Amino acid sequence: MIIKVCGLTDNQSSMQVANLNGVDYTGFIFYEGSKRFTETTLATAKQKVGVFVNASLQYIKEQVIKYNLDVVQLHGNESPEFIRQFPKNIKIIKAFGIATEADLEATQLYEGLADYFLFDTKSESHGGTGTTFNWQILDAYKGSTPFLLSGGIGLESIEKLKQFTHPQLAGYDLNSRFELSPKVKDPDRIATFIKLLNMKTTSYLDTDPLGFYGEFGGAYVPELLRPNVEELDAAFNSYCFTEEFESEFKQLLKDYVGRPTPLYLAGRLSDKYGATIYLKREDLCHTGAHKVNNTVGQILLAKHMGKTNIIAETGAGQHGVATATVCALMGLNCIVYMGEKDIERQAPNVQRMKMLGAEVRPATSGSKTLKDATNEAIRHWINHPDSYYLIGSVVGPHPYPKIVAYFQSVISKEIEKQLLEKTGKTYPDKVIACVGGGSNAAGAFYQFYDNPKVELVAVEAAGLGIDSGKSAATSVLGTPGVLHGSLTLLMQDADGQVTEPHSISAGLDYPGIGPLHAHTIATGRAVSISVTDDEALQAALELSQLEGIIPALESAHALYALTKLELKKEDVIVVNLSGRGDKDMNTYLEKFPNL
Ligand SMILES: *Cc1c(COP(=O)(O)O)cnc(C)c1O
Repeated sequence: MIIKVCGLTDNQSSMQVANLNGVDYTGFIFYEGSKRFTETTLATAKQKVGVFVNASLQYIKEQVIKYNLDVVQLHGNESPEFIRQFPKNIKIIKAFGIATEADLEATQLYEGLADYFLFDTKSESHGGTGTTFNWQILDAYKGSTPFLLSGGIGLESIEKLKQFTHPQLAGYDLNSRFELSPKVKDPDRIATFIKLLNMKTTSYLDTDPLGFYGEFGGAYVPELLRPNVEELDAAFNSYCFTEEFESEFKQLLKDYVGRPTPLYLAGRLSDKYGATIYLKREDLCHTGAHKVNNTVGQILLAKHMGKTNIIAETGAGQHGVATATVCALMGLNCIVYMGEKDIERQAPNVQRMKMLGAEVRPATSGSKTLKDATNEAIRHWINHPDSYYLIGSVVGPHPYPKIVAYFQSVISKEIEKQLLEKTGKTYPDKVIACVGGGSNAAGAFYQFYDNPKVELVAVEAAGLGIDSGKSAATSVLGTPGVLHGSLTLLMQDADGQVTEPHSISAGLDYPGIGPLHAHTIATGRAVSISVTDDEALQAALELSQLEGIIPALESAHALYALTKLELKKEDVIVVNLSGRGDKDMNTYLEKFPNL
Protein backbone atom coordinates (compact mmCIF):
# COMPACT_ATOMS: atom_id res chain seq x y z
CA MET A 1 0.00 0.00 0.00
CA ILE A 2 1.15 3.50 -0.80
CA ILE A 3 1.47 5.76 2.23
CA LYS A 4 1.26 9.48 1.64
CA VAL A 5 1.72 11.81 4.57
CA CYS A 6 0.16 15.16 3.87
CA GLY A 7 0.34 18.63 5.37
CA LEU A 8 4.02 18.72 6.31
CA THR A 9 5.10 22.10 7.59
CA ASP A 10 7.52 21.80 10.45
CA ASN A 11 11.07 21.28 9.29
CA GLN A 12 12.32 18.73 11.81
CA SER A 13 9.33 16.38 11.94
CA SER A 14 9.00 16.54 8.16
CA MET A 15 12.47 15.21 7.74
CA GLN A 16 11.81 12.41 10.20
CA VAL A 17 8.61 11.52 8.38
CA ALA A 18 10.34 11.55 5.02
CA ASN A 19 12.94 9.14 6.35
CA LEU A 20 10.43 6.63 7.70
CA ASN A 21 10.38 3.22 6.10
CA GLY A 22 7.11 2.74 4.32
CA VAL A 23 6.33 6.42 3.62
CA ASP A 24 6.12 6.81 -0.15
CA TYR A 25 4.97 10.39 -0.64
CA THR A 26 5.27 13.56 1.41
CA GLY A 27 2.62 16.20 0.76
CA PHE A 28 2.99 19.98 1.07
CA ILE A 29 -0.02 22.22 0.97
CA PHE A 30 0.32 25.30 -1.23
CA TYR A 31 -2.18 28.03 -0.66
CA GLU A 32 -1.47 30.91 -2.93
CA GLY A 33 0.45 33.51 -0.99
CA SER A 34 0.70 31.58 2.26
CA LYS A 35 3.69 29.46 3.01
CA ARG A 36 3.11 26.73 5.57
CA PHE A 37 6.40 25.03 5.00
CA THR A 38 10.06 25.89 5.06
CA GLU A 39 12.14 25.69 1.95
CA THR A 40 14.67 23.34 3.57
CA THR A 41 11.90 20.88 4.34
CA LEU A 42 10.97 20.73 0.72
CA ALA A 43 14.56 20.35 -0.36
CA THR A 44 15.05 17.20 1.70
CA ALA A 45 11.69 15.47 1.34
CA LYS A 46 11.15 12.42 -0.86
CA GLN A 47 8.55 12.01 -3.62
CA LYS A 48 7.16 15.48 -3.05
CA VAL A 49 3.52 16.15 -3.65
CA GLY A 50 2.35 19.75 -3.94
CA VAL A 51 -1.30 20.16 -2.97
CA PHE A 52 -3.16 22.98 -4.74
CA VAL A 53 -6.72 24.24 -4.50
CA ASN A 54 -7.99 26.02 -7.60
CA ALA A 55 -4.60 27.62 -8.20
CA SER A 56 -3.59 29.03 -11.56
CA LEU A 57 -1.61 26.90 -13.98
CA GLN A 58 1.14 29.50 -13.94
CA TYR A 59 1.44 29.40 -10.14
CA ILE A 60 1.50 25.60 -10.01
CA LYS A 61 4.15 25.36 -12.72
CA GLU A 62 6.33 27.86 -10.88
CA GLN A 63 6.13 25.87 -7.65
CA VAL A 64 6.86 22.59 -9.46
CA ILE A 65 10.06 24.04 -10.84
CA LYS A 66 11.05 25.98 -7.74
CA TYR A 67 10.58 23.06 -5.34
CA ASN A 68 11.23 20.19 -7.69
CA LEU A 69 7.81 18.64 -7.03
CA ASP A 70 7.22 15.08 -8.27
CA VAL A 71 3.45 15.13 -8.06
CA VAL A 72 0.72 17.75 -8.27
CA GLN A 73 -2.41 17.09 -6.25
CA LEU A 74 -5.43 19.09 -7.36
CA HIS A 75 -7.84 19.46 -4.50
CA GLY A 76 -10.33 21.99 -5.86
CA ASN A 77 -12.72 22.13 -8.80
CA GLU A 78 -10.02 21.87 -11.48
CA SER A 79 -11.53 20.78 -14.80
CA PRO A 80 -10.35 17.95 -17.09
CA GLU A 81 -9.28 20.61 -19.61
CA PHE A 82 -7.16 22.28 -16.97
CA ILE A 83 -5.36 19.01 -16.23
CA ARG A 84 -4.71 18.37 -19.93
CA GLN A 85 -2.43 21.41 -19.97
CA PHE A 86 0.13 19.80 -17.65
CA PRO A 87 3.26 18.27 -19.16
CA LYS A 88 3.17 14.47 -19.22
CA ASN A 89 6.17 14.06 -16.87
CA ILE A 90 4.27 15.49 -13.90
CA LYS A 91 2.25 12.97 -11.96
CA ILE A 92 -1.26 14.08 -11.07
CA ILE A 93 -3.48 13.20 -8.14
CA LYS A 94 -7.04 14.48 -8.53
CA ALA A 95 -9.00 14.71 -5.29
CA PHE A 96 -12.75 14.31 -4.94
CA GLY A 97 -14.89 15.00 -1.88
CA ILE A 98 -17.25 12.08 -1.35
CA ALA A 99 -20.54 12.17 0.55
CA THR A 100 -22.79 10.05 -1.65
CA GLU A 101 -22.47 7.71 -4.61
CA ALA A 102 -23.41 10.61 -6.91
CA ASP A 103 -20.09 12.26 -6.06
CA LEU A 104 -18.32 9.41 -7.85
CA GLU A 105 -19.89 10.23 -11.22
CA ALA A 106 -17.52 13.14 -11.81
CA THR A 107 -14.54 10.77 -11.76
CA GLN A 108 -15.49 9.43 -15.20
CA LEU A 109 -14.49 12.72 -16.82
CA TYR A 110 -11.01 12.42 -15.35
CA GLU A 111 -10.24 8.82 -16.34
CA GLY A 112 -6.83 8.71 -18.00
CA LEU A 113 -5.89 12.20 -16.84
CA ALA A 114 -4.70 11.41 -13.31
CA ASP A 115 -2.25 8.84 -11.98
CA TYR A 116 -4.34 8.52 -8.84
CA PHE A 117 -7.64 9.74 -7.59
CA LEU A 118 -7.89 10.71 -3.95
CA PHE A 119 -11.21 10.20 -2.20
CA ASP A 120 -11.67 12.51 0.75
CA THR A 121 -14.49 13.48 3.05
CA LYS A 122 -16.62 16.08 1.28
CA SER A 123 -16.39 19.52 2.87
CA GLU A 124 -16.64 23.21 2.05
CA SER A 125 -13.00 23.62 3.02
CA HIS A 126 -11.70 21.08 0.48
CA GLY A 127 -10.51 18.46 2.95
CA GLY A 128 -8.47 18.49 6.11
CA THR A 129 -11.55 18.12 8.32
CA GLY A 130 -10.22 15.10 10.25
CA THR A 131 -13.49 13.24 9.73
CA THR A 132 -14.09 10.07 7.75
CA PHE A 133 -16.79 9.26 5.23
CA ASN A 134 -18.58 5.99 4.62
CA TRP A 135 -16.04 4.01 2.57
CA GLN A 136 -18.72 1.55 1.51
CA ILE A 137 -19.84 4.22 -0.98
CA LEU A 138 -16.66 3.47 -2.92
CA ASP A 139 -17.97 0.00 -3.77
CA ALA A 140 -19.81 1.86 -6.53
CA TYR A 141 -16.55 3.15 -8.00
CA LYS A 142 -15.84 1.02 -11.08
CA GLY A 143 -13.21 3.20 -12.74
CA SER A 144 -9.75 2.13 -13.82
CA THR A 145 -7.74 4.84 -12.04
CA PRO A 146 -6.29 3.63 -8.72
CA PHE A 147 -7.18 5.73 -5.70
CA LEU A 148 -5.84 6.82 -2.35
CA LEU A 149 -8.16 6.86 0.61
CA SER A 150 -8.16 10.05 2.67
CA GLY A 151 -10.08 11.85 5.38
CA GLY A 152 -9.71 11.33 9.11
CA ILE A 153 -7.64 8.17 8.90
CA GLY A 154 -5.98 7.52 12.25
CA LEU A 155 -4.49 4.72 14.30
CA GLU A 156 -7.98 3.75 15.40
CA SER A 157 -8.93 3.15 11.74
CA ILE A 158 -6.56 0.20 11.28
CA GLU A 159 -9.04 -2.62 11.78
CA LYS A 160 -11.63 -0.99 9.53
CA LEU A 161 -9.00 -0.22 6.90
CA LYS A 162 -7.93 -3.86 6.84
CA GLN A 163 -11.51 -4.88 6.25
CA PHE A 164 -12.07 -2.37 3.47
CA THR A 165 -10.88 -3.79 0.20
CA HIS A 166 -11.35 -2.49 -3.32
CA PRO A 167 -9.57 -3.55 -6.51
CA GLN A 168 -8.42 0.02 -7.16
CA LEU A 169 -7.41 0.89 -3.60
CA ALA A 170 -3.75 1.89 -3.91
CA GLY A 171 -2.95 3.48 -0.57
CA TYR A 172 -3.75 5.82 2.27
CA ASP A 173 -3.37 9.54 2.81
CA LEU A 174 -2.47 10.43 6.41
CA ASN A 175 -2.91 13.90 7.78
CA SER A 176 -4.35 15.61 10.83
CA ARG A 177 -4.67 12.55 13.04
CA PHE A 178 -0.93 12.11 13.01
CA GLU A 179 0.04 15.42 14.57
CA LEU A 180 1.74 16.20 17.87
CA SER A 181 0.38 19.74 17.74
CA PRO A 182 -1.37 21.56 14.90
CA LYS A 183 0.80 21.22 11.80
CA VAL A 184 3.63 19.25 13.54
CA LYS A 185 3.61 15.62 12.47
CA ASP A 186 4.27 12.78 14.91
CA PRO A 187 6.70 10.37 13.20
CA ASP A 188 6.23 7.73 15.90
CA ARG A 189 2.51 7.56 15.34
CA ILE A 190 3.03 7.25 11.58
CA ALA A 191 5.59 4.49 12.09
CA THR A 192 3.15 2.65 14.35
CA PHE A 193 0.40 2.99 11.77
CA ILE A 194 2.62 1.46 9.09
CA LYS A 195 3.69 -1.34 11.39
CA LEU A 196 0.12 -2.19 12.41
CA LEU A 197 -1.04 -2.00 8.83
CA ASN A 198 1.59 -4.50 7.79
CA MET A 199 0.80 -6.87 10.63
CA LYS A 200 -0.91 -9.82 9.15
CA THR A 201 -4.52 -10.40 10.03
CA THR A 202 -4.03 -14.04 9.20
CA SER A 203 -1.94 -16.20 11.49
CA TYR A 204 1.83 -16.29 11.25
CA LEU A 205 1.39 -20.05 11.23
CA ASP A 206 -0.66 -20.07 8.03
CA THR A 207 1.01 -21.10 4.82
CA ASP A 208 -0.24 -20.38 1.34
CA PRO A 209 -1.38 -23.39 -0.73
CA LEU A 210 2.20 -24.02 -1.85
CA GLY A 211 3.47 -24.15 1.70
CA PHE A 212 5.01 -20.68 1.93
CA TYR A 213 5.25 -18.65 5.11
CA GLY A 214 5.57 -15.25 3.46
CA GLU A 215 8.48 -15.61 1.06
CA PHE A 216 9.95 -18.74 2.70
CA GLY A 217 9.01 -22.41 2.54
CA GLY A 218 7.54 -24.44 -0.32
CA ALA A 219 8.34 -27.98 -1.37
CA TYR A 220 11.44 -28.24 -3.55
CA VAL A 221 11.51 -31.98 -4.09
CA PRO A 222 12.25 -34.16 -7.12
CA GLU A 223 9.08 -34.86 -9.18
CA LEU A 224 9.27 -38.49 -8.06
CA LEU A 225 8.66 -37.43 -4.47
CA ARG A 226 5.84 -34.99 -5.14
CA PRO A 227 3.15 -37.64 -4.57
CA ASN A 228 4.83 -38.45 -1.23
CA VAL A 229 4.67 -34.94 0.18
CA GLU A 230 1.13 -34.51 -1.13
CA GLU A 231 0.05 -37.81 0.40
CA LEU A 232 1.66 -36.80 3.68
CA ASP A 233 -0.10 -33.43 3.72
CA ALA A 234 -3.46 -35.05 3.00
CA ALA A 235 -2.93 -37.69 5.69
CA PHE A 236 -1.89 -35.11 8.27
CA ASN A 237 -4.86 -32.85 7.51
CA SER A 238 -7.40 -35.64 7.61
CA TYR A 239 -6.03 -37.77 10.43
CA CYS A 240 -4.22 -35.63 12.96
CA PHE A 241 -7.31 -33.67 14.01
CA THR A 242 -9.48 -36.71 14.63
CA GLU A 243 -10.44 -37.85 18.10
CA GLU A 244 -8.72 -41.17 17.49
CA PHE A 245 -5.37 -39.55 16.79
CA GLU A 246 -5.68 -36.94 19.49
CA SER A 247 -6.46 -39.38 22.24
CA GLU A 248 -3.64 -41.75 21.27
CA PHE A 249 -1.15 -38.90 20.91
CA LYS A 250 -2.16 -37.40 24.26
CA GLN A 251 -1.95 -40.73 26.00
CA LEU A 252 1.55 -41.43 24.72
CA LEU A 253 2.74 -37.92 25.54
CA LYS A 254 1.47 -38.42 29.06
CA ASP A 255 2.47 -41.99 29.86
CA TYR A 256 5.47 -42.52 27.59
CA VAL A 257 7.07 -39.09 27.20
CA GLY A 258 6.16 -37.90 30.69
CA ARG A 259 4.09 -34.81 29.88
CA PRO A 260 3.12 -32.27 30.94
CA THR A 261 6.67 -31.20 31.69
CA PRO A 262 6.89 -28.78 34.62
CA LEU A 263 6.96 -25.01 34.23
CA TYR A 264 9.49 -24.31 36.95
CA LEU A 265 9.87 -20.91 38.62
CA ALA A 266 13.64 -20.58 38.78
CA GLY A 267 13.96 -18.50 41.94
CA ARG A 268 17.69 -17.98 42.14
CA LEU A 269 17.93 -17.30 38.41
CA SER A 270 15.06 -14.79 38.72
CA ASP A 271 16.85 -12.98 41.55
CA LYS A 272 20.01 -12.78 39.53
CA TYR A 273 18.37 -11.33 36.41
CA GLY A 274 15.73 -9.20 38.11
CA ALA A 275 12.64 -10.69 36.46
CA THR A 276 10.31 -13.64 36.98
CA ILE A 277 11.89 -16.48 35.04
CA TYR A 278 10.23 -19.79 34.37
CA LEU A 279 11.95 -22.78 32.79
CA LYS A 280 9.88 -25.07 30.59
CA ARG A 281 11.41 -28.41 31.48
CA GLU A 282 11.62 -30.24 28.14
CA ASP A 283 14.83 -31.74 29.56
CA LEU A 284 12.60 -34.02 31.59
CA CYS A 285 11.04 -35.65 28.52
CA HIS A 286 11.83 -39.31 27.85
CA THR A 287 15.13 -39.45 25.91
CA GLY A 288 16.16 -36.12 27.41
CA ALA A 289 14.84 -33.49 25.02
CA HIS A 290 11.79 -32.13 23.21
CA LYS A 291 12.50 -34.08 20.00
CA VAL A 292 10.41 -37.05 21.09
CA ASN A 293 7.18 -34.95 21.02
CA ASN A 294 7.52 -34.82 17.27
CA THR A 295 8.68 -38.39 16.69
CA VAL A 296 5.70 -39.74 18.65
CA GLY A 297 3.30 -37.65 16.52
CA GLN A 298 4.89 -38.64 13.23
CA ILE A 299 5.16 -42.32 14.07
CA LEU A 300 1.41 -42.41 14.73
CA LEU A 301 0.87 -40.70 11.40
CA ALA A 302 3.20 -43.15 9.64
CA LYS A 303 1.42 -46.10 11.19
CA HIS A 304 -1.93 -44.70 10.08
CA MET A 305 -0.56 -44.34 6.54
CA GLY A 306 0.40 -48.03 6.59
CA LYS A 307 4.15 -47.36 6.47
CA THR A 308 6.41 -49.91 8.11
CA ASN A 309 9.85 -48.66 7.08
CA ILE A 310 10.99 -45.45 8.73
CA ILE A 311 14.02 -43.49 7.62
CA ALA A 312 15.62 -40.51 9.27
CA GLU A 313 18.86 -38.59 9.23
CA THR A 314 20.66 -37.26 12.23
CA GLY A 315 23.61 -35.02 12.98
CA ALA A 316 24.44 -35.37 16.63
CA GLY A 317 22.27 -38.43 16.94
CA GLN A 318 19.55 -36.95 19.13
CA HIS A 319 16.85 -37.08 16.48
CA GLY A 320 18.15 -40.51 15.49
CA VAL A 321 17.73 -41.73 19.05
CA ALA A 322 14.23 -40.23 19.33
CA THR A 323 13.26 -41.90 16.03
CA ALA A 324 14.80 -45.26 16.97
CA THR A 325 12.94 -45.03 20.28
CA VAL A 326 9.46 -44.63 18.79
CA CYS A 327 10.17 -47.21 16.08
CA ALA A 328 10.97 -49.71 18.84
CA LEU A 329 7.77 -48.65 20.59
CA MET A 330 5.71 -49.35 17.46
CA GLY A 331 7.69 -52.31 16.15
CA LEU A 332 8.68 -50.58 12.89
CA ASN A 333 11.92 -50.86 10.89
CA CYS A 334 14.25 -47.93 11.37
CA ILE A 335 17.19 -46.81 9.24
CA VAL A 336 19.09 -43.74 10.38
CA TYR A 337 21.55 -42.01 8.04
CA MET A 338 24.44 -40.33 9.76
CA GLY A 339 27.63 -38.73 8.45
CA GLU A 340 30.67 -40.96 8.93
CA LYS A 341 32.39 -38.19 10.84
CA ASP A 342 29.38 -37.75 13.14
CA ILE A 343 29.27 -41.50 13.80
CA GLU A 344 32.77 -41.21 15.22
CA ARG A 345 32.06 -38.00 17.15
CA GLN A 346 28.77 -39.15 18.64
CA ALA A 347 29.54 -42.75 19.51
CA PRO A 348 27.26 -43.01 22.58
CA ASN A 349 24.18 -42.01 20.54
CA VAL A 350 25.12 -44.50 17.82
CA GLN A 351 25.26 -47.20 20.46
CA ARG A 352 21.86 -46.13 21.78
CA MET A 353 20.26 -46.33 18.33
CA LYS A 354 21.73 -49.79 17.81
CA MET A 355 20.51 -50.97 21.19
CA LEU A 356 17.04 -49.73 20.26
CA GLY A 357 17.16 -51.93 17.18
CA ALA A 358 17.83 -49.31 14.48
CA GLU A 359 20.29 -49.63 11.62
CA VAL A 360 22.73 -46.72 11.41
CA ARG A 361 23.96 -46.16 7.86
CA PRO A 362 27.06 -44.02 7.35
CA ALA A 363 27.02 -41.20 4.79
CA THR A 364 30.47 -41.24 3.26
CA SER A 365 30.26 -38.41 0.73
CA GLY A 366 31.17 -34.73 1.03
CA SER A 367 32.05 -33.50 4.49
CA LYS A 368 30.53 -36.71 5.95
CA THR A 369 28.25 -34.70 8.24
CA LEU A 370 24.56 -33.81 8.54
CA LYS A 371 23.95 -32.40 5.07
CA ASP A 372 25.45 -35.52 3.50
CA ALA A 373 23.29 -37.70 5.72
CA THR A 374 20.29 -35.65 4.54
CA ASN A 375 21.22 -36.23 0.91
CA GLU A 376 21.50 -39.96 1.53
CA ALA A 377 18.15 -40.08 3.29
CA ILE A 378 16.46 -38.24 0.42
CA ARG A 379 18.10 -40.60 -2.09
CA HIS A 380 16.79 -43.56 -0.09
CA TRP A 381 13.34 -42.02 -0.07
CA ILE A 382 13.39 -41.63 -3.86
CA ASN A 383 14.37 -45.28 -4.26
CA HIS A 384 11.85 -46.46 -1.68
CA PRO A 385 8.91 -44.10 -1.93
CA ASP A 386 6.90 -46.48 0.26
CA SER A 387 9.06 -45.62 3.25
CA TYR A 388 8.23 -42.86 5.69
CA TYR A 389 10.79 -40.07 6.01
CA LEU A 390 10.69 -38.78 9.57
CA ILE A 391 12.12 -35.25 9.72
CA GLY A 392 13.20 -34.00 13.14
CA SER A 393 12.82 -30.23 12.97
CA VAL A 394 10.68 -27.52 11.35
CA VAL A 395 12.72 -27.86 8.18
CA GLY A 396 12.36 -29.79 4.94
CA PRO A 397 9.73 -29.52 2.23
CA HIS A 398 6.14 -28.50 2.98
CA PRO A 399 4.27 -29.99 4.88
CA TYR A 400 7.06 -31.02 7.28
CA PRO A 401 7.62 -27.60 8.92
CA LYS A 402 3.87 -27.32 9.53
CA ILE A 403 3.60 -30.86 10.91
CA VAL A 404 6.61 -30.64 13.21
CA ALA A 405 5.56 -27.22 14.55
CA TYR A 406 2.09 -28.62 15.26
CA PHE A 407 3.40 -31.66 17.14
CA GLN A 408 5.76 -29.48 19.17
CA SER A 409 2.99 -26.96 19.92
CA VAL A 410 2.16 -29.05 22.98
CA ILE A 411 4.97 -27.08 24.66
CA SER A 412 3.24 -23.69 24.45
CA LYS A 413 -0.22 -25.19 25.00
CA GLU A 414 1.06 -26.41 28.36
CA ILE A 415 2.81 -23.10 29.06
CA GLU A 416 -0.52 -21.27 28.66
CA LYS A 417 -2.28 -23.48 31.19
CA GLN A 418 0.60 -23.51 33.63
CA LEU A 419 1.10 -19.74 33.47
CA LEU A 420 -2.57 -19.12 34.07
CA GLU A 421 -2.34 -21.17 37.24
CA LYS A 422 0.82 -19.43 38.42
CA THR A 423 0.40 -15.84 37.26
CA GLY A 424 -3.27 -15.41 36.37
CA LYS A 425 -2.36 -14.70 32.73
CA THR A 426 -2.06 -17.17 29.87
CA TYR A 427 0.93 -15.52 28.25
CA PRO A 428 4.38 -14.30 29.30
CA ASP A 429 6.15 -11.10 28.24
CA LYS A 430 8.93 -12.99 26.51
CA VAL A 431 9.56 -16.54 25.36
CA ILE A 432 13.17 -17.48 24.73
CA ALA A 433 14.25 -20.59 22.85
CA CYS A 434 17.32 -21.77 20.98
CA VAL A 435 17.07 -22.40 17.25
CA GLY A 436 18.89 -25.10 15.35
CA GLY A 437 16.28 -25.94 12.73
CA GLY A 438 13.80 -24.42 15.12
CA SER A 439 11.43 -27.11 16.38
CA ASN A 440 11.66 -26.44 20.11
CA ALA A 441 11.35 -22.70 19.42
CA ALA A 442 8.35 -23.20 17.12
CA GLY A 443 6.70 -25.33 19.80
CA ALA A 444 7.39 -22.79 22.54
CA PHE A 445 6.24 -19.84 20.38
CA TYR A 446 3.28 -21.57 18.72
CA GLN A 447 0.40 -20.26 20.84
CA PHE A 448 1.95 -16.79 21.00
CA TYR A 449 2.76 -16.03 17.35
CA ASP A 450 -0.39 -13.98 16.92
CA ASN A 451 -0.27 -12.25 20.29
CA PRO A 452 1.82 -9.10 19.75
CA LYS A 453 2.17 -8.63 23.51
CA VAL A 454 4.55 -11.60 23.65
CA GLU A 455 8.09 -11.00 22.52
CA LEU A 456 9.54 -14.06 20.77
CA VAL A 457 13.29 -14.43 21.15
CA ALA A 458 15.06 -16.91 18.87
CA VAL A 459 18.61 -17.67 19.96
CA GLU A 460 21.13 -18.88 17.43
CA ALA A 461 24.62 -20.25 17.88
CA ALA A 462 27.31 -17.69 17.06
CA GLY A 463 29.99 -20.38 17.46
CA LEU A 464 33.37 -18.66 17.84
CA GLY A 465 31.72 -15.34 16.90
CA ILE A 466 29.54 -14.08 14.07
CA ASP A 467 32.51 -12.83 12.03
CA SER A 468 34.83 -15.70 12.86
CA GLY A 469 33.91 -17.90 9.92
CA LYS A 470 32.97 -20.54 12.48
CA SER A 471 29.36 -19.85 13.33
CA ALA A 472 25.83 -21.10 12.86
CA ALA A 473 24.01 -17.75 13.15
CA THR A 474 21.88 -18.30 10.08
CA SER A 475 19.47 -15.41 10.46
CA VAL A 476 22.42 -12.98 10.46
CA LEU A 477 24.75 -14.70 7.99
CA GLY A 478 22.21 -16.52 5.85
CA THR A 479 20.76 -15.55 2.49
CA PRO A 480 17.70 -17.03 0.76
CA GLY A 481 18.29 -20.35 -0.91
CA VAL A 482 16.96 -23.88 -1.11
CA LEU A 483 18.10 -26.26 1.61
CA HIS A 484 16.65 -29.63 2.47
CA GLY A 485 13.64 -29.08 0.21
CA SER A 486 12.53 -25.61 1.24
CA LEU A 487 13.36 -22.02 0.36
CA THR A 488 14.79 -20.48 3.49
CA LEU A 489 17.72 -18.60 4.94
CA LEU A 490 20.94 -20.58 4.77
CA MET A 491 24.63 -20.01 5.05
CA GLN A 492 26.15 -20.31 1.60
CA ASP A 493 29.05 -18.97 -0.38
CA ALA A 494 28.86 -16.87 -3.54
CA ASP A 495 28.41 -20.01 -5.66
CA GLY A 496 25.50 -21.22 -3.56
CA GLN A 497 27.57 -23.91 -1.88
CA VAL A 498 26.36 -24.54 1.66
CA THR A 499 28.89 -23.28 4.19
CA GLU A 500 29.91 -25.71 6.91
CA PRO A 501 28.46 -24.32 10.13
CA HIS A 502 30.08 -24.42 13.53
CA SER A 503 28.66 -24.57 17.02
CA ILE A 504 29.87 -26.25 20.16
CA SER A 505 26.37 -27.71 20.45
CA ALA A 506 25.66 -30.39 17.91
CA GLY A 507 21.93 -29.61 17.86
CA LEU A 508 22.48 -26.01 16.70
CA ASP A 509 25.20 -26.90 14.20
CA TYR A 510 22.92 -26.53 11.18
CA PRO A 511 23.48 -24.25 8.16
CA GLY A 512 19.80 -23.29 7.78
CA ILE A 513 16.76 -22.28 9.78
CA GLY A 514 13.16 -23.40 9.34
CA PRO A 515 11.10 -21.25 6.92
CA LEU A 516 8.65 -20.24 9.66
CA HIS A 517 11.53 -18.70 11.63
CA ALA A 518 13.02 -17.09 8.52
CA HIS A 519 9.62 -15.49 7.96
CA THR A 520 8.96 -14.32 11.51
CA ILE A 521 12.48 -12.94 11.90
CA ALA A 522 12.36 -11.21 8.50
CA THR A 523 9.04 -9.56 9.34
CA GLY A 524 10.18 -8.51 12.81
CA ARG A 525 7.70 -10.74 14.64
CA ALA A 526 10.56 -12.60 16.32
CA VAL A 527 13.92 -11.19 17.30
CA SER A 528 17.08 -13.18 16.87
CA ILE A 529 20.01 -13.08 19.24
CA SER A 530 23.25 -14.95 18.77
CA VAL A 531 25.28 -16.49 21.57
CA THR A 532 28.84 -17.81 21.30
CA ASP A 533 30.22 -21.17 22.40
CA ASP A 534 31.91 -19.60 25.41
CA GLU A 535 28.82 -17.68 26.46
CA ALA A 536 26.72 -20.84 26.30
CA LEU A 537 29.26 -22.73 28.42
CA GLN A 538 29.12 -19.95 30.99
CA ALA A 539 25.29 -20.10 31.08
CA ALA A 540 25.38 -23.90 31.46
CA LEU A 541 27.65 -23.66 34.47
CA GLU A 542 25.55 -20.89 35.95
CA LEU A 543 22.28 -22.83 35.72
CA SER A 544 23.92 -25.94 37.12
CA GLN A 545 25.11 -24.09 40.19
CA LEU A 546 22.17 -21.72 40.67
CA GLU A 547 19.34 -24.19 40.15
CA GLY A 548 20.83 -27.67 40.22
CA ILE A 549 19.89 -28.30 36.59
CA ILE A 550 22.55 -29.25 34.05
CA PRO A 551 21.18 -28.06 30.71
CA ALA A 552 21.96 -29.28 27.22
CA LEU A 553 24.46 -27.02 25.47
CA GLU A 554 21.72 -26.03 23.01
CA SER A 555 19.44 -24.87 25.82
CA ALA A 556 22.35 -23.03 27.45
CA HIS A 557 22.36 -20.70 24.43
CA ALA A 558 18.78 -19.72 25.21
CA LEU A 559 19.71 -19.14 28.86
CA TYR A 560 22.55 -16.81 27.99
CA ALA A 561 20.11 -14.57 26.11
CA LEU A 562 18.91 -13.41 29.56
CA THR A 563 22.09 -11.35 29.87
CA LYS A 564 21.53 -9.78 26.45
CA LEU A 565 17.94 -8.66 26.94
CA GLU A 566 16.72 -5.64 28.82
CA LEU A 567 14.60 -7.13 31.56
CA LYS A 568 12.16 -5.29 33.80
CA LYS A 569 11.27 -6.39 37.30
CA GLU A 570 7.66 -7.09 36.39
CA ASP A 571 8.56 -9.13 33.29
CA VAL A 572 7.44 -12.74 33.15
CA ILE A 573 9.91 -14.72 31.05
CA VAL A 574 9.73 -18.31 29.85
CA VAL A 575 12.97 -19.97 28.76
CA ASN A 576 12.46 -23.23 26.93
CA LEU A 577 14.93 -25.69 28.40
CA SER A 578 14.98 -27.93 25.35
CA GLY A 579 17.15 -30.73 26.75
CA ARG A 580 19.35 -32.06 29.52
CA GLY A 581 23.11 -31.95 29.66
CA ASP A 582 24.03 -35.61 30.15
CA LYS A 583 25.02 -35.94 26.52
CA ASP A 584 27.31 -32.91 26.84
CA MET A 585 29.22 -33.99 29.94
CA ASN A 586 32.37 -34.77 27.95
CA THR A 587 32.40 -31.25 26.53
CA TYR A 588 31.72 -29.71 29.92
CA LEU A 589 34.50 -31.71 31.57
CA GLU A 590 36.92 -30.77 28.82
CA LYS A 591 36.03 -27.06 28.98
CA PHE A 592 35.93 -26.84 32.77
CA PRO A 593 39.03 -28.87 33.74
CA ASN A 594 39.24 -27.24 37.15
CA LEU A 595 35.85 -28.23 38.49
C1 LIG B 1 18.10 -31.00 18.49
C2 LIG B 1 18.08 -30.11 19.63
C3 LIG B 1 17.91 -28.72 19.49
C4 LIG B 1 17.81 -28.03 18.17
O1 LIG B 1 16.77 -28.43 17.37
P1 LIG B 1 15.49 -27.49 17.12
O2 LIG B 1 14.76 -28.17 16.04
O3 LIG B 1 15.99 -26.15 16.76
O4 LIG B 1 14.74 -27.45 18.39
C5 LIG B 1 17.87 -27.94 20.63
N1 LIG B 1 17.99 -28.47 21.86
C6 LIG B 1 18.17 -29.80 22.04
C7 LIG B 1 18.32 -30.33 23.42
C8 LIG B 1 18.21 -30.66 20.94
O5 LIG B 1 18.39 -31.95 21.13
